[in-house]
Amino acid sequence: MSTATPSAAGGLYSDVIRERWRRPRHRGELPGANAVAEDVNPLCGDRVRLMLTIEPGGRIAAVRFVGDSCAICTASTDVLAELITGRPRDEARAIEIADLLAVLQAEIRPTRMRCVTLPISVLAQALNGTKTP
Ligand SMILES: [Zn+2]
Repeated sequence: MSTATPSAAGGLYSDVIRERWRRPRHRGELPGANAVAEDVNPLCGDRVRLMLTIEPGGRIAAVRFVGDSCAICTASTDVLAELITGRPRDEARAIEIADLLAVLQAEIRPTRMRCVTLPISVLAQALNGTKTP
């Protein structure tokens, strides 16, 4: 009658993913955002909308996201939001999947990898669509 995960080591959800899924730090609307993008991962049904406030000098001042996504995707988006907050746009653009995996500390199966990478492509769209004031 245990509800524990089947395999002790390297389960699907790491503690980081569990924690971020339950209490995302960057979830919510961002009034006044000037860079917004949204995309879906049809493989899993994830939908993520990223909202950024980018200062005239190119620094990302604030990041929020909303969406309907699985635990991995939500955690990945939350970690990405944290990594890019306060960074110049060019550094945010350079974030790679390895950076996210390093924080998530999880063995992600190839079939779920798109759940991790979705926020990266949404971010790229948001940055490319930015209107410089
Ligand atoms: Zn997913």
